Amino acid sequence: MKILVTLCLLFSCGFANAQLYDLVIRNGKVIDGSGNPWFYADVAIQNGKVVRIGKLSSAQAKRVIDATGLIVAPGFIDVHAHIEGGESTTPTADNFIHDGVTSVVTGNCGGSNLNIADYFTRLDSIKTSINIATLIGHNTVRRAAMGDAQRDPTPDELKKMEMLVNDAMNAGAVGFSTGLIYIPGTFSKTEEVVALARMAAKQGGVYASHIRDEGDNVTDAVNEAINIGRLAKIPVEISHFKVTYKPNWGRSVETLELVERARLEGLDVTIDQYPYVASSTTLDTTVPSWVFAGGRDSMKIRINDPATRLRIKKEMVETLKKKQLKNYSYAQVARYAPDTTYNGKNISEINKLKGRKTKPMEEAETILEMIGAINRTQMVYFSMNEGDLTRIMQYPFNMIASDAGIARYGSGMPHPRAYGTNARVLGRYVREQKIIRLEEAIRRMTSLPAQKF
Ligand SMILES: [Zn+2]
Repeated sequence: MKILVTLCLLFSCGFANAQLYDLVIRNGKVIDGSGNPWFYADVAIQNGKVVRIGKLSSAQAKRVIDATGLIVAPGFIDVHAHIEGGESTTPTADNFIHDGVTSVVTGNCGGSNLNIADYFTRLDSIKTSINIATLIGHNTVRRAAMGDAQRDPTPDELKKMEMLVNDAMNAGAVGFSTGLIYIPGTFSKTEEVVALARMAAKQGGVYASHIRDEGDNVTDAVNEAINIGRLAKIPVEISHFKVTYKPNWGRSVETLELVERARLEGLDVTIDQYPYVASSTTLDTTVPSWVFAGGRDSMKIRINDPATRLRIKKEMVETLKKKQLKNYSYAQVARYAPDTTYNGKNISEINKLKGRKTKPMEEAETILEMIGAINRTQMVYFSMNEGDLTRIMQYPFNMIASDAGIARYGSGMPHPRAYGTNARVLGRYVREQKIIRLEEAIRRMTSLPAQKF
């Protein structure tokens, strides 16, 4: 395996040999994405489609690529992307293309465009290099219906959310996503998610779940996602499957068993994973969610009140202890707009720069100062274990997905998953560690995601 030559579309046949093709890729080892072994073949392309695979030595072509010694595979489908915004600034989506990805599913973790019809119209005018499908996000429709309120929706508000999901599905969304650790989705109960997932199910959608807890309560959270699938009669995709923080390392044995048992019951449950032991999300997730109830103004009132600020910091330190962490050195800044010198530094280092002691309470103070300046600072958290990662990777109904957006080169110190997800699976886990076979890895990057979405 040296280089992957990727093709955008699935294989089909039908052209006669006398045809002058636009492109023929000769002499490669073809891995078709089904999981079957590679075979030597030439691949002919006409009008952007694969039209013939086989021995095409006599075929004429406008352009020929000699793929001797190389693998030829379909373009990868990344089912867990967050490209919103990036498609306009960088329509070439270079980080995806260079990682072999030609199609993405965006709108994950509960966050999407609200008006999917408008979004698709906009995408048509942009002409991105990647194909794009989207989910409709729970947080997006909840915020539109009831802001960041920490309560159940009224019947009218629920009806409004249902209509928004329905409209999105009508416009071509491929399903419904949740981000149950984020504001405001974290304020919802299971029943609300079931009601909305039902709307997506009616039109053949998938329920993609960033579950409620990937740490201490991970089994409850996996069970909740499966149960939503059972009640709403909708296929479930559990996003960026993992177990976080030391006390939970090893529990992927239990969580994978839950998925397997659901499948034996006849529920269509699959998962996806990025191949790194660090996650990436916002700094806000280190602060209790009640602090953000009602929106940014309410949050500012809370953190500026000395008694409430102290209570928040105590809760944060309590959470840190539960994770068996002594400080916030596991939390590294990817991009902090108010002071870019923070990029790449962890919270303990930033705390020291401020002349403070390496104590959890002082570091919590540093975090609150950063959150007071700006919301949603992107972070990298070193929270996982290689044993869980490889165990999850060996699960056959697990797709490879980046959880990334369209990268802007030279901006911040982002998580490497935006650039190297598929390359790392193929290089580190297939070639070096032999955790899975090459054909199997490519199946998880192509036909498995295609079948599900
Ligand atoms: Zn997520």
